[in-house]
Formats: sequence, structure tokens, C-alpha cells
Amino acid sequence: MRDVDCYLCGSSDRERRFEQDGISLYRCNACGFVYASPQLTDEGLEAIYQDTYWQSDRAKDYGYTDYLRDRALYRRTFEKRIKVLTAHRSSGRLLDVGCAAGFFLDVARDVGFETHGIDVAVPMLAHARDTLGLENIREGTLESAGYPDGAFDVVTMWDVIEHLRDPLTVLREVRRVLADDGLFVLETQNVKSLFARMTGRRWHHYKMLEHLYHFDPRTLTTLLDRAGFEVVRWTSRRAGKYVSMAFIHERASRVGRWLQVALTPLKWLGRTGVYANPHDEMIFVARPKPRSKDG
Ligand SMILES: [Zn+2]
Repeated sequence: MRDVDCYLCGSSDRERRFEQDGISLYRCNACGFVYASPQLTDEGLEAIYQDTYWQSDRAKDYGYTDYLRDRALYRRTFEKRIKVLTAHRSSGRLLDVGCAAGFFLDVARDVGFETHGIDVAVPMLAHARDTLGLENIREGTLESAGYPDGAFDVVTMWDVIEHLRDPLTVLREVRRVLADDGLFVLETQNVKSLFARMTGRRWHHYKMLEHLYHFDPRTLTTLLDRAGFEVVRWTSRRAGKYVSMAFIHERASRVGRWLQVALTPLKWLGRTGVYANPHDEMIFVARPKPRSKDG
């Protein structure tokens, strides 16, 4: 673990909001960016996305209870989310960075995209390749993949950027592998959303070990601009998730044991899915700035 300064502006002037499991959540006094520190090293981060992350016995703090078991819910989630993309484009070469088990790519293939995926989460890639029969699935980081310049018409990143220690480097690589008339769609949690402010330190996205950065519309726009993108639009519509009743029951314990007890009947409904959108996530649609402007 190492202590870090503000990723966005480099300032060490900051205010601590709270601490959890030895990691603090800070807000930069210079630019307002919200980040966790200390952070794991690259090697440490890669290590946490292996088996226990996807079948975690403490998912409210870390990872998923059983990612593959909820595949039907993820499919429905992505069927909704992809509409933000297909409003602009519905064919071409698409790369999903952080594709995990391939749930999004499966939906994108059905829409008509030629699909490619990459992830460091080795245990999930077998599901993408063997169960879903997806081709062009690679193991590793985007920076290490060496895709050719302009190789893709669309790049997507769902629930990924908040996990990256050096997101600007990754976004610049996205810019490089994206065609000049391509589209970049990314989604992450919005730390300035009403729901995040209402729930405070109990917000379910404050998973200190894995969520290193908490963006809001302004800070994410700043980072995209630096990476050579201009924002076409952003929305919290369609950014919700289909979740199981058991999931709601599990996450309720972050608010308080009393709420979890009160919601016990939900646990009995088990895998029944319900669409939940507290509008605390945002989907950004961006496109490359003309090369003459970004140098
Ligand atoms: Zn800052």
C-alpha cells in the first residue's frame, strides 16, 4: 500500500472524510477530487481480481457474492445500458475494456457489433470464451495489449475506471486504439449524486480497497479532456442495475443491522430481479477531439 496525493491535480492539501479498514477517503482542497489513500500497487490490485473477488463472502466491502450466478440480471442490465450507445451507433468493431465474464459483449454481439474484450480477471475469461463462445477475448491490461492505432469503432468501460490506479494512461490508450470518428462509452459512480450525499459514508460504492477514485460529472469531464476526448453527453438514465432481492438485503447491512433485519423478507425472494436506479451512476458518451486540437 502507498499513500497518494490528488490524482487529478497533484495537490497534497486535502480533507479526510472518513477512514475504513485503514484506508481514508479524501477530498482534495485544491480541485475537489475524491480519492482513497493509501492504495494498493499495480501488482496488489491485479491480485485482488482473481477467484475470491468474483465469489466473495464479504461482498458488501469487496467483490461480488457470486458474479456468474447473477448472469441473467447482468444481461438485463446491459440490454438497458447499451441503448445509450446504440442511440449513436449499432455496428462496427467494439472493444470492452474490463469485459470480465463477457456479459456486455454477449449483448453487443446480438445487437450487431464485432466484439473484442480484455480483462485482467483471468477466472472470468473462460466464461466469456467457452460458455458464451465469444472470440477475441484477451487476458491482461489494455496498455499491454498493443492493439493497432484506430483499431476500434467503439470502446466501452463499465464499472472499470474507478478501479484503475492510473486512469489517464488507460484513457489515452483508449484514444489511441479508437478510430478518429469512434465512440467511447464509460460508466462509473457519481460521488456528487444526491443518493451518495444522502447515504454519506455508508454509500455502497465506498469499497475502499477497489474503488480508488470517485468521479463526478466535472472531474470525469476534466480527465476525458486531458486524454483527448470531448463529452457528447452524460446521463444517469439507464445506468441502474437489475439486482436480486438477496443483493438488496446484503447491501442493507451497510446502512445498519436494523435495516437488514427489517428487510429479511427480501432474502427469501432470493434471485428475483428488480431494476434499481438511485441515479448515482453516470454513463458518459465521448468522442475523440480532432487531432489538430489535442496535439
Ligand atoms: Zn486535486
